[in-house]
Amino acid sequence: MNADHQLAVLLQDAHLEASLKEIAKKVQNGERISFEEGVLLYKKADLSYLGVLANYIRTKKHGNVTYFNRNFHIEPTNLCVYDCKFCSYSRLIKEKAEGWEYTMEEMMAIVKSYDEQPVTEVHIVGGVLPQYDMKFYMDFFTAIKKHRPELHVKALTPVEYHYIFKKAKVDYATGMRMMKEAGLESMPGGGAEIFHPEIREQIAKDKCDAEQWLQIHEEWHKLGMRSNATMLYGHIEEYWHRVDHLEKLRVLQDKTGGFQTFIPLKFRNQDNQMSHVAESTVVEDLRNYAISRIYLDNFDHIKAYWAMIGRNTAQLSLNFGVDDIDGTLDDTTKIYSMAGAEEQNPAMSTKDLVKLIKAVGKKPVERDTLYNIINDFENVDFPEDEKPKYYALPVIN
Ligand code: SF4
Repeated sequence: MNADHQLAVLLQDAHLEASLKEIAKKVQNGERISFEEGVLLYKKADLSYLGVLANYIRTKKHGNVTYFNRNFHIEPTNLCVYDCKFCSYSRLIKEKAEGWEYTMEEMMAIVKSYDEQPVTEVHIVGGVLPQYDMKFYMDFFTAIKKHRPELHVKALTPVEYHYIFKKAKVDYATGMRMMKEAGLESMPGGGAEIFHPEIREQIAKDKCDAEQWLQIHEEWHKLGMRSNATMLYGHIEEYWHRVDHLEKLRVLQDKTGGFQTFIPLKFRNQDNQMSHVAESTVVEDLRNYAISRIYLDNFDHIKAYWAMIGRNTAQLSLNFGVDDIDGTLDDTTKIYSMAGAEEQNPAMSTKDLVKLIKAVGKKPVERDTLYNIINDFENVDFPEDEKPKYYALPVIN
């Protein structure tokens, strides 16, 4: 049954509650749902209903295409001046023994170690420390572009930018322009957490607030540049806090059109100050992807990090609004594994990623950071791995 037919069948369901039927009709007509309807979906809609709606939108936007990219990560440090309660990654300065602080030379050595590999993007995020200042990052971006001009530099979040601009006494507009001139090409979506102060002040109280996060993205978009957005869900927030978060992103996107992708991030409770808080279930994760797809009608893409949610849930998510499952990671990132993600060694080859996408009937397409198509893998068959050799056992009569 195709996505149109599934939605038509749903709308004929005599048992479907009137308010949910109204929302389904809006989706069919390409109309935007309201804040109240967003909350209603979180409170009342079941998984199969949400799957039909989200898959309808995903299919209208992208058909069967599922995107991935080939990138590598550099995490300059895992020491941080902040103390976010959910963070399993940062080792505060007082726990320095467990931390790392890469020098410029060490980070350029990582960049150079990928010289022979077909990666298109370097993704740079980490903790916040005083020595990683504006000059350091500008020199780093410039050095990467000088060494490998075609490698796309996607780096740092408003958490870092707010900190380094304040220290350098430059305003956001000037700071983002200087970063662009130094070689920055796009911004990842991190640091958004939950925007509403009621929650943000409990889990991430010292770093940039929602308004500052949104302002930095706005300044970046004004330069004609693109960025992503995230939401850390499934901890102490209520459903309406999630909708408030989505609403703020939708409003800014109406204004600038600069966001490419929304990435829901599942709260993980390993080895952090919120270990007593239970994690969301897989059903809730899929519901959240679907509602994000329905609510953010002006975002082109919804992404699931397979390394964070695991390969099986990532496959399922492709029927709940997700059209991008990130990249062929090697083990250069520690962010997922340190938080207790399903994948402790998040490595997957292009062949494995393509097989994973094809296994659920989707079409794997390699993209660059800006969603230009690099390779369509629909009709590409990889040679099978060599089978173990067969040894004839002697027959004993
Ligand atoms: S989430 Fe980011 S800003 Fe917060 S403590 Fe961890 S590394 Fe630092």
